[in-house]
Amino acid sequence: GFKNAAELDFTIDENKVKMEEAFQLVEKEKGSVFPLIINGERVETEKKITSLSPATKEVLGYACSCSQELAEKAIQGANEAFKKWSVTPLEERARALRKLARLVEENRYYIDAWNVEESGKNWGEADGELCELLDFINSYVMHMNNLEKGLELVPTDEYTKCIYIPIGVAVPPWNFPLSLIGGMVAAAVVTGNSIVCKPSSDSPIVAYKFVELCEKAGIPAGVVNYIPGSGSDIGDFIVEHPLTRFINFTGSKEIGCRINEHAAKISKGQKWIKRVVAEMGGKNAIIVDSSANIKKAAQGIASSAFTFQGQKCSACSRAIVMSDVYDELVDAVVEEAKKLKADQGAGRDNAAIGPVINQNAYNNITSYIEVGRKEGTIVYGGTYSDEKGYFVDPTVIRDIKRDARIANEEIFGPVLAVIKVDSFDEALDIANQTEYGLTGSVYSETRENIMKAKVQFNVGNLYFNRKSTAAVVLQHPFGGFNMSGTDAKTGTSDYLTNFLNLKSITEDLTD
Ligand code: NAP
Repeated sequence: GFKNAAELDFTIDENKVKMEEAFQLVEKEKGSVFPLIINGERVETEKKITSLSPATKEVLGYACSCSQELAEKAIQGANEAFKKWSVTPLEERARALRKLARLVEENRYYIDAWNVEESGKNWGEADGELCELLDFINSYVMHMNNLEKGLELVPTDEYTKCIYIPIGVAVPPWNFPLSLIGGMVAAAVVTGNSIVCKPSSDSPIVAYKFVELCEKAGIPAGVVNYIPGSGSDIGDFIVEHPLTRFINFTGSKEIGCRINEHAAKISKGQKWIKRVVAEMGGKNAIIVDSSANIKKAAQGIASSAFTFQGQKCSACSRAIVMSDVYDELVDAVVEEAKKLKADQGAGRDNAAIGPVINQNAYNNITSYIEVGRKEGTIVYGGTYSDEKGYFVDPTVIRDIKRDARIANEEIFGPVLAVIKVDSFDEALDIANQTEYGLTGSVYSETRENIMKAKVQFNVGNLYFNRKSTAAVVLQHPFGGFNMSGTDAKTGTSDYLTNFLNLKSITEDLTD
């Protein structure tokens, strides 16, 4: 009985009031120090990571920063915990995860409020992420119950079985603040592994709140360890550690490729070949052909390109449009973008568009806007300010050539490049030309084009007459091709097998 979690409706007064109350709770905790959690112990360190509100630059709190010595302790502790957890019956592991899901629901407004404050999401985006977390937890419990039955084998006069067993210490270095780290943890825990979590330095508090709930749910000490720290301080160390068996990463292509390379090196004392799941960036395109419903296409493009400030790996950053509907489509996208202008007062006040995550992201996005200003014509946006927080207005740039930088490089911000084409084949060719292959959409009413795109548009998640964002667990299994990643397809049973070894056991029954 799996059912997707339903998002809260924040137009209902009661929900608004609860959200405001949750912000009051968060307010009281601002400025606190959040320790590491190693083997169930709280460890404070001298060095801190400051978590800033991207909307106001206010200090939200200080996460302790893990050193290599403490990372060593966490990995050793996880290895010890693994010995017991890996033989704990699934019933117990699943029970803890069901409890965790319940605790997440009970603390829903509070977690949403922290996510809004720390990541700059609006309320709906934050709650949508929490629903995704619940879906990950519940789907992984369901899949593991099925995998536990083992693999069906041909009956012979031997007694044979093939069972899935946990592999060992897993390390997920990054998260979307909540659902990605939560999904990684749930998958590791339900499969009987222990895990060392290094959250992003931009969102350590949301991750801390989640790991706290794991403890409350009864997951034993040492199974889930929490060690924020900068990638440069401890990233390579935890990846290269001989006891690490599996690295589950979500982040940029640059870091994902680095992890893959470092994980391939055999460290002294290492007894296995490490697995890497790396889900990385995208340069996602939406194609609009001459037969498309232009209004619907414009709404889908604007929503995919600008919600959460374009900081979704699935966000649309290229609209590839047939010449005969090009001007009409550009005008319609601008109309939609106008509804989404960045609200400079955004933050907890639930504006449609809020800030981008930090100063580096702001600098990177705005420098791409300046590149785009030279490569095409800005027809909407192009304005930004980091005076109070990191705000970039949704930006639409038309007449971009296929070889332009903003047509090929990931920007990870609210910037849309619009490219004109003369044929559907040319549109597909441009859509496939980047090194990425994460998501893509086609707006068309022509069956022939739809059927062609199903075969030729080479992305992990392909949609028709629908936006390229908002994948739902077990409705749209998620993961990219090419330099977008290892195509792990989160939320599926296949995903869990990354955390497992398949052990074949045979007993001769003849005398
Ligand atoms: P990032 O710069 O690659 O950082 C990701 C994580 O890697 C952070 O926790 C970072 O730590 C850590 N890290 C840095 N150096 C490391 C090292 N040497 N070893 C191990 N870990 C290391 O990515 P980001 O800017 O935070 O995230 C945006 C990117 O993620 C975009 O490219 C986006 O498309 C992608 N993304 C992909 C998906 C997907 O499912 N495909 C989903 C969401 C996001 P610090 O924070 O401490 O530096």
